[in-house]
Amino acid sequence: MARIVMKFGGTSMAGTERIRSVAARVKRERERGHEIAVVVSAMAGETDRLVGFCREASSLYDPREYDVVVAAGEQVTSGLLAIALQAAGVPARSWLGWQLPIRTSSAHASARIEEVDMGALEAALGRGEVAVIPGFQGVSEDGSVTTLGRGGSDTSAVAVAAAMRAERCDIYTDVDGVYTTDPRIVPRARKLSRVTYEEMLELASVGAKVLQTRSVGLAMKERVRVRVLSSFEGNDESGEDGAHESWEHRGTLIVGEEEVDEMERRVITGIAHDKNEAKITLTAVPDKPGAVAAIFGPLADGGINVDMIVQNVAHSAGSTDVTFTVPAADLARSLEVLGSAQGAIGYERLVHDTRVAKISVVGVGMRSHAGVAATMFRTLGERGINVQAITTSEIKVSVLIEEDYTELAVRVLHTAYGLDAEA
Ligand code: ADP
Ligand code: ASP
Ligand code: MG
Repeated sequence: MARIVMKFGGTSMAGTERIRSVAARVKRERERGHEIAVVVSAMAGETDRLVGFCREASSLYDPREYDVVVAAGEQVTSGLLAIALQAAGVPARSWLGWQLPIRTSSAHASARIEEVDMGALEAALGRGEVAVIPGFQGVSEDGSVTTLGRGGSDTSAVAVAAAMRAERCDIYTDVDGVYTTDPRIVPRARKLSRVTYEEMLELASVGAKVLQTRSVGLAMKERVRVRVLSSFEGNDESGEDGAHESWEHRGTLIVGEEEVDEMERRVITGIAHDKNEAKITLTAVPDKPGAVAAIFGPLADGGINVDMIVQNVAHSAGSTDVTFTVPAADLARSLEVLGSAQGAIGYERLVHDTRVAKISVVGVGMRSHAGVAATMFRTLGERGINVQAITTSEIKVSVLIEEDYTELAVRVLHTAYGLDAEA
């Protein structure tokens, strides 16, 4: 007998028929003798709909009330799955974030999980019940409902798995694993049987939304064994969902670096894109000490995360242009902050552009291989794609390009790094 967390994403929970098939899958896993907690997302599209209502009600909505509204999607699916499980003869109960409780910080809309209380959960498992837990939600110290940021159900699942000391955390989604790039953009993307925590963390943070970044960071810290797999494969009622095949062979396993053998290692593991950044340029910034501090200080004070930064060489007049990116959602606020700091910074013009995309190539092999960035620039150059900004880390190179070229850039880079699956 093992303890297992099963997490089902929005597409897997979209409608009662799919919820019934999730219940059947949970039932089969329980019949293998496991103790199970299930973490669920809202139905696909539901969270967007709820966010839309908040915006409609007021453009300046209160973050605490936003969380009350958007957490509702997971409340519905957790109750429905408990009903479906009971109907299938499986004892089950839902446990909302405040009931369990899942304690979080009070940062509404991006709360961090501080603790998953094991009291009620332990008792439920002890009674042989399946515990159904809505993802994405928790409760802050003052008793307010909180949410964890978009895609946060992955993080709920990993946190529950860590608290339960689960043998594994299975993330069921609408693709059958982590691919070398988004398989919806590049049909020739290859499925990875294993990917390291570090690479997955980097891929998620640069836009591969298959797992929320925080969930990977938490899994790495707590050494939770995470597997990403399809909730649509092997869905027949006969129980042929891989029972004969050892579970390691399905989906993608996120592992420590020591678990990837030499054979599987490649210089580049994957490519991701992100269309949610905006570019800002300040022209004719005085080229003197303290000038960049005058720009990025006020942005940091406003809680705005700057990502890529380019400072051009000085013009003869002793001034320079500074270009950087911020999350598109923070663009309006950034412009406001920079507008009011114009006197202190001393720039001439403030220009912005939201039609940009960040393309990133990731791989631990980069540490020991030269030429990864050069291949990237050459490949894009040959296609006439202009690079507007660059950032690198030890295992990643990112470039900013015009948004219209996103799909083309990902595709040609995928081929250039030899990642295409055989036809
Ligand atoms: P869920 O609702 O199950 O949480 P998400 O939509 O959040 O599902 O994440 C799954 C999606 O992530 C896939 O449909 C796919 O389009 C996208 N995706 C992006 N990059 C990758 C990648 N490298 N491998 C697999 N899927 C990816
Ligand atoms: N329902 C939430 C969202 O759409 C959380 C999740 O699905 O992970 O962001
Ligand atoms: Mg998701």
